[in-house]
Amino acid sequence: MAQHPSKIGNLLTKCNLKGTWQADAPMSGHTTFRVGGPADFLVFPRSFEDVQVVRELARNQGIPLTIVGRGANLLVADQGIRGITLAMSSLVGFQWKQSLLTVSAGTDVSDAARAGLEGGFSCLEFLNAMPSTVGGAIWMNARCYGWEIADVLSSVTVLDESNRTVIVPFAAKDWSYKKSPFQGRDWLILEASFRTSPATREAVEAVMVANEADRTAKGHFRAPCAGSVFKNNHAFGAASGVLIDRCGLKGLRCGKAVVSDWHANIIINEGGALASDIRQLINAVKQKVHSQMGFLLEEEVVYCGDWSLSEVDINKVV
Ligand SMILES: Cc1cc2nc3c(=O)[nH]c(=O)nc-3n(C[C@H](O)[C@H](O)[C@H](O)COP(=O)(O)OP(=O)(O)OC[C@H]3O[C@@H](n4cnc5c(N)ncnc54)[C@H](O)[C@@H]3O)c2cc1C
Repeated sequence: MAQHPSKIGNLLTKCNLKGTWQADAPMSGHTTFRVGGPADFLVFPRSFEDVQVVRELARNQGIPLTIVGRGANLLVADQGIRGITLAMSSLVGFQWKQSLLTVSAGTDVSDAARAGLEGGFSCLEFLNAMPSTVGGAIWMNARCYGWEIADVLSSVTVLDESNRTVIVPFAAKDWSYKKSPFQGRDWLILEASFRTSPATREAVEAVMVANEADRTAKGHFRAPCAGSVFKNNHAFGAASGVLIDRCGLKGLRCGKAVVSDWHANIIINEGGALASDIRQLINAVKQKVHSQMGFLLEEEVVYCGDWSLSEVDINKVV
């Protein structure tokens, strides 16, 4: 980091943000794996201007900037995150323009689904109960129950590489399985507009209730996790969870990180797991599936933060 931490604190104070910030904020409180060391500075923006000002500050001062949503797809290093981390989950709200629903990036997808329900429209109910902000779901092109978020997207408002506000219209060619045009780009999602269709409250609610019940039945909320660890690959002939199961890896563990015995593509934190345990377990699963079946699984989980000092002890995997 180019700047001394106390100087960054002073600079953030001078920004007069509507939102708040915290120094040395443990990321275990902001990730669904419940692991991750401290973010040097964790900022909770309350307006688009907050986001823009903090991004400008980071750029001008050479401070690394990390964006997190609900932390539901992140594995944050035990050493934490250097520089400034923007916790977008504080940037919430929605508005209607006729049948177009516009939602701030930090809004929980379940709250966005409920906005549709209250307005008498079908839109994001398929995502109900999936832990995610709208921004995170767009970045990941989140999908479930036969739908992906791209299916209902109309446009996305971003801060572009030059920190200008730009509206990006939806273009189908830029989207595919777990791919969005925002990956690998220095764009920050501020809000998104969604196409909706008229629906009764009962119909929308029925989908929300059914999907939540299905997730509960599948053990999504039984222990801290990040959902599926690996992407599926049609060329492998079966879902990643099935392949991992066929290799007999349910129950494989590294410290307190375990391949769950109810879904082989879910790794759980039994309580007290280190991020490095989870990462080593991921590596071990990849190696074993590769050596037994010849398929190289690709992580869906995103590694985040300072992994430079993480130790690897393969003997911990049993
Ligand atoms: C129990 C459980 C079940 C799950 N089920 C599913 C499922 O059915 N389908 C599925 O697709 N996923 C699933 N997931 C994974 C996760 O919910 C999704 O990937 C989710 O969309 C992540 O959103 P997030 O807000 O937590 O983003 P984070 O995990 O915080 O971030 C993910 C990425 O998005 C980037 N990002 C976040 N917000 C912004 C922004 N505003 N601007 C720019 N970049 C941003 C981050 O930098 C990061 O690279 C599940 C996870 C859990 C814990």
